[in-house]
Amino acid sequence: MTAAETWVVVVPPLRQTELVSAELVGEARRLAGNGSVHVLLVGNDLRAAGQALAKWGISSCLLIEDERLSSYQPERFARLIASAVAKHDPTVVLFAGTVLGADLGARVGTELDRRFHGQCLNFELSNGGIRVTRAVSGGRQHQIEFADGAPFLLSLVPGTVGPGASSPSKTMLFTDLGLERDIDLDRECFRDLGFVAADPRTMDILDADVIVAGGRGVGGPVGFELLEEVAEQLEASLGASRPAVEAGWAPYERLVGQTGRTVHPKLYLACGISGAPQHLAGMREAETIIAINTDPNAPIFGVATLGVVADLHDVLSALVSRLRTRHKGVA
Ligand SMILES: Cc1cc2nc3c(=O)[nH]c(=O)nc-3n(C[C@H](O)[C@H](O)[C@H](O)COP(=O)(O)OP(=O)(O)OC[C@H]3O[C@@H](n4cnc5c(N)ncnc54)[C@H](O)[C@@H]3O)c2cc1C
Repeated sequence: MTAAETWVVVVPPLRQTELVSAELVGEARRLAGNGSVHVLLVGNDLRAAGQALAKWGISSCLLIEDERLSSYQPERFARLIASAVAKHDPTVVLFAGTVLGADLGARVGTELDRRFHGQCLNFELSNGGIRVTRAVSGGRQHQIEFADGAPFLLSLVPGTVGPGASSPSKTMLFTDLGLERDIDLDRECFRDLGFVAADPRTMDILDADVIVAGGRGVGGPVGFELLEEVAEQLEASLGASRPAVEAGWAPYERLVGQTGRTVHPKLYLACGISGAPQHLAGMREAETIIAINTDPNAPIFGVATLGVVADLHDVLSALVSRLRTRHKGVA
């Protein structure tokens, strides 16, 4: 079965990152086959957000727009989206695989009396229905589900597939879906007091602009403390290769690669990581890669923007003291 129509829900008040949207757009296109893909934008003043999606190949945005939709009110947004889905009947509706995206998807599911398949690792249309694999129990188990009867409401674990390759679209068609009259846009169940930036040391590595990652060459937990210091000075997040995670030097959620996260930071500093294909699969799309390795033939140098053939402990110790001096000078 090929979806006749696939929607990607983008809600600017939820601060869904561009990468999350791009990944959903890629998946929507794959599911749609020859069918159509639309982004459903819900919020206020949406044209710029819609136009920004052109670079991922999107050429059609459906709008539910009103100044009273500037801040996220779960019931109101869910009812508006559910009524648009009921009216226009898309086959698949994709939501961001974030905490707030899951909240919204589940509420839309309740409104439509449909199952919301959250935290999917993959999904395929088959035999008139959809088969999904979901990460459950904190990722320790995978649940496989089958549902028939569209619409299928899904979210994807961010970073599972990465943004698909696509040519930018030259035109953008905006279609105003209007507002459902029966929905009270003035009733607020809470007040949104704003967003603050998360601590890079604890934030999800998927959202990190700078990642300092360590591998087996770091040598142990003491070596990782040095990496943490570098990360702190650079306001970066910590990443790790599989041997480092398996040795317990870094927690599982820091794993980069085929079985871990696929990251797209501006800077990836790879320390004592050889560059096995399974690791490269998760970080080769970083804008700038700096690799430190004692082995000049390490494969990581094949993808690095800048390679440093040296002992990582020497380089990182020198880097930390330079950064500390610089920060003191600024303070
Ligand atoms: C199905 C499957 C899935 C996998 N998924 C993943 C995954 O998601 N992520 C992942 O990372 N791996 C994954 N792996 C494992 C992967 O194949 C590699 O074994 C792993 O990436 C190697 O990690 P590493 O680079 O830290 O260690 P190594 O390959 O042992 O490399 C250590 C590097 O450190 C360098 N070094 C040593 N001492 C120093 C020093 N003092 N200073 C500087 N450099 C030094 C060495 O020259 C070497 O290049 C997977 C494997 C399989 C089979």
